[in-house]
Amino acid sequence: MSKQTEFANDLFIGGKWRPSTSMKRIDVFDPSTEECITSVADATLEDAADAVDAAAAAASGWAATSPGKRADILRRAYELMLRDAAKIATLISRENGKALIDAQGEVAYAAEFFRWYAEEAVRINGEISIAPSGRARTIVQYQPVGIAVLVTPWNFPAAMATRKIGPALAAGCTCVLKPATETPLTAYLIAQLLVEAGVPDGVVNVLTTSAAGKITGAMMDDPRVRKVSFTGSTEVGRVLLRKAADSVINCSMELGGNAPFIVFEDADVDAAVDGAMVAKMRNGGEACTAANRFYIHTSVLGEFSQKLAERMGALVLGDGVEPLTQCGPLVNRSSLEKVASLVNDACEKGAQVITGGSTVDRPGFFYKPTVLTNVPPSADILREEIFGPVAPIVAFNDEDQVVDLANNTEYGLVAYVYTRDLARGLRISERIESGMIALNRGLVSDPAAPFGGVKQSGLGREGAHHGLLEYMEQKYISTIW
Ligand code: NAP
Repeated sequence: MSKQTEFANDLFIGGKWRPSTSMKRIDVFDPSTEECITSVADATLEDAADAVDAAAAAASGWAATSPGKRADILRRAYELMLRDAAKIATLISRENGKALIDAQGEVAYAAEFFRWYAEEAVRINGEISIAPSGRARTIVQYQPVGIAVLVTPWNFPAAMATRKIGPALAAGCTCVLKPATETPLTAYLIAQLLVEAGVPDGVVNVLTTSAAGKITGAMMDDPRVRKVSFTGSTEVGRVLLRKAADSVINCSMELGGNAPFIVFEDADVDAAVDGAMVAKMRNGGEACTAANRFYIHTSVLGEFSQKLAERMGALVLGDGVEPLTQCGPLVNRSSLEKVASLVNDACEKGAQVITGGSTVDRPGFFYKPTVLTNVPPSADILREEIFGPVAPIVAFNDEDQVVDLANNTEYGLVAYVYTRDLARGLRISERIESGMIALNRGLVSDPAAPFGGVKQSGLGREGAHHGLLEYMEQKYISTIW
């Protein structure tokens, strides 16, 4: 059902806003109230083909646009995001449910990707060397990989889009963005800002669909598409990797996590609790980087658990857009049910609730910030991504034991380690199988640093110079002079 709205909600293809060729629409809900906010166009295969046509028509012109000009446009996009920060943050809170303070943090983080890649666009350097034989010169040049399909999740609707669009545009690629169905409006708002920043028609196209697999798969089958960059669950990542094999497409995969949060006996416990509140509760726990398993040394277990429970229990729950809210709802009913069932499973197996442990009697998908202790190894909550405001605590006694526990997962995105002994912190950092370590910190995300995972948490990196290279191919030229 189409509704009049203040938000852009049609497909954005070739610089034009238009409804789906089927005229079908997808309702978008506010998770704080369960009310429908508006609806967005539901793209068909024909629309997807049009988006790839538009990206293809713009590709050579954008690749030939000077790096300085590409940088200027991205810099302008950064400035426009800051200008409209309050509006974007409110929209994120409405469609995702996260507390406004988290949404404001996301906008600042998201905008930084445009600034960072504006600066990187003019730093695409090749190499020249003399072949070991002395008989030839070796030139290595970087070229845009080609049309990129970008698929993003609902948990950071702005930052996951800019983390892909920024480097794609800096590299000289054109793209089609498919945002998550729960949070399409932020992506369309970013598209509006990119138009204002001067991005030419067809360079960025955005389409929403209720048939993600079919539409993304069709675009990946198009031989003109040479890149897929996906952020989302490991399950869907595996599907896309299988699909990418058909046409051997360049892939970047930012997938799920199961982050351990380790507190040693010599840690500053208050600092660890502060860090835990960020690592667990940023975005209400709906982050791939969220601390998922708390391994606390037995000598500080009581103090840490009690202090964490006090802080978690004091958080103000409420409608995401209310300024006093510290923890908003989960994104949808299935997320709420998953979190509740993980807590119930842990409790049935022997865990104890020391704060929270239930849903909230009001509209919206609310779950109380929860701390569980004595969580047994058999509990599903230690293996699965919680994606909610629940901290399960497990005691440990020594370094080797906690490294084994931390590594006992298919995931390897991030780990948090608290110790005052820097040598131990660095030693543990090397032994833990993850792409990122936060040592005495509760936060790793930084547009200037390479974000990404090992094992089944993903392939490739986003952010930093490394993120730019994900959108470039190396060309080696051998010559004599
Ligand atoms: P998801 O279900 O995997 O969906 C992510 C995106 O993929 C959405 O746009 C979704 O569209 C689309 N999608 C779903 N099925 C697809 C298919 N068969 N083919 C192509 N696209 C498909 O993940 P989510 O629930 O939105 O996000 C949460 C997950 O993202 C968590 O696992 C989290 O850890 C991960 N994440 C990882 C990072 C990282 O950087 N490593 C960052 C943020 C989030 P629809 O919305 O239409 O289903």
